[in-house]
Amino acid sequence: MELILIPWALLWAIICSLIGARKGAAFGYFFLGAILGPIGAIIALVGKGNRVKCPYCRKLIDPRASVCAFCQREVEAKTKEPFSRREWAELLIMLAFLLCLFYGIFCVCKS
Ligand SMILES: [Zn+2]
Repeated sequence: MELILIPWALLWAIICSLIGARKGAAFGYFFLGAILGPIGAIIALVGKGNRVKCPYCRKLIDPRASVCAFCQREVEAKTKEPFSRREWAELLIMLAFLLCLFYGIFCVCKS
């Protein structure tokens, strides 16, 4: 039973982080998917992630954008450090960690 749950959690974690990556919150949604499974995916789809509302058209846009992708008007960019690369690095570390965990449990169950 445990052996089925781990790839299940991993699968949903990856799906949720892919959804979250488009909203600038891959790392947070990764855990959400791992813990909640398909419910996490629904939350990831509905949630606005790290996006901000355009002051003109009220649509959700990337906080680093200087021009709105929907109405093409200039918006004040929230000049945070670009986090996407760091987030992907964190995600890869988490993936490696989960794979090691999965492999460890697999070896324990096999012996
Ligand atoms: Zn706009």
